[in-house]
Amino acid sequence: MHRILADERIAAYEAELGRERIKRAAEDILGRARFLGDDDLETVVVSLVRRLDELHLTEHRPVINATGIILHTNLGRAPLGADALDAAVELGGHYSNLEYDRDTGERGSRHRSIAEILRGLTGAEDALIVNNCAAAVLLVLDTFAKGREVIVARSQLVEIGGGFRVPDVLERSGAVLVEAGTTNRVYLEDYERALSPRTALLLRTHASNYRIEGFTHEPSAQELVALGRRAGVPVIEDLGSGALVDLGEFGVAHERTVQEALIDGISLVTFSGDKLLGGPQAGIIAGRASLIARLRNNALLRALRVGKLTLAALAATLHCYRDRSWRERLPIFRMLATTLDDLHSRAKLYVAVIPNASVVESAAYIGGGALPEARVESLAIALPSPKPTDLAARLRRGKPAIVARIESGRVLLDLRTILPEDDARAIAAITEGEPG
Ligand SMILES: *Cc1c(COP(=O)(O)O)cnc(C)c1O
Repeated sequence: MHRILADERIAAYEAELGRERIKRAAEDILGRARFLGDDDLETVVVSLVRRLDELHLTEHRPVINATGIILHTNLGRAPLGADALDAAVELGGHYSNLEYDRDTGERGSRHRSIAEILRGLTGAEDALIVNNCAAAVLLVLDTFAKGREVIVARSQLVEIGGGFRVPDVLERSGAVLVEAGTTNRVYLEDYERALSPRTALLLRTHASNYRIEGFTHEPSAQELVALGRRAGVPVIEDLGSGALVDLGEFGVAHERTVQEALIDGISLVTFSGDKLLGGPQAGIIAGRASLIARLRNNALLRALRVGKLTLAALAATLHCYRDRSWRERLPIFRMLATTLDDLHSRAKLYVAVIPNASVVESAAYIGGGALPEARVESLAIALPSPKPTDLAARLRRGKPAIVARIESGRVLLDLRTILPEDDARAIAAITEGEPG
């Protein structure tokens, strides 16, 4: 056994899979080899490498994001900051007052403290947390619009991706979609004409991943809110990315914030925890206390609620906004704030070691349904290769795995989304299987 474990082809998996798992897999393979009467070292090592490779590829493991897309949905969106991780470890490893009121010694609310922070940050009267933004929209529609009508502009009947399509979510919730206006031009009068005694809500949705340009019109949020007031119908806005701060300082276009939507008079705003908020997967609903109270009483909430790890990580993330340390403490903002000079210094580490690598200009993107066109100037390491798709595949299978981009026949590693603490491991993984 120890000769197997000492083989360098096997030892290479140790950092990723851990010695115990490798040992168990080795015992299994060795047992089978003995049974078949072919337990020659080389045969066993070769089958074990195959098994470990399978484990390594299917295992849910960290990867290095070299795509330049900061909120990459397939790569888990926002990486959590240290505070969120610490909080999840601390609350996860202990009993906590998750639903326990320490004052009265009776059952308490799992949402109370986080609602308090959100009130302070956004100006909302109250807030509620569910599993993700899709669940937030579903809960709102189920509570207020089941069997009734929801008016949506035709220009906002979006598909966000991953199966979230506004018309489908409406249908699933039992609400009836009433379309207003045309694809490119929607006027307040279109909404007015669509109103009926059965209207439950006016819904605004963030276009997230596309833009209609040219001959376009949509009424402002304030106009819609004024109409909603006249008609006695709440206006809901699905913001999606949920920025709490102005991104202008990072040189990208302004993304509408949660606070702005609430100031405009939107009754309920829904947004994700793991997009521009920079926290864990969650859906947040913020707005009028009387409406949030009705959401709290919906039995569906029990099925959409979040666990203590999420609440702990989300609260810790929100604290970074409260004490204004978000720029330094949340990884997505550190990535956005990294200067080209910083990227240049890091690029030097790569090209010094990787044969034929060069530094090229690149464009990073925010992703996650926010600002689809906002290019963030960046730098990438270009790896020339006769077969870029093969090289990209080798990097994906590497230890650690690196997910790169292919552009003009080269593999590009965008440095903006590689965490600086991962540079050394990334360089090692690239040079490791380097042929020649
Ligand atoms: C991303 C997004 C959603 C879905 O959010 P999840 O947290 O992934 O469920 C819904 N609406 C909009 C506008 C979005 O951008």
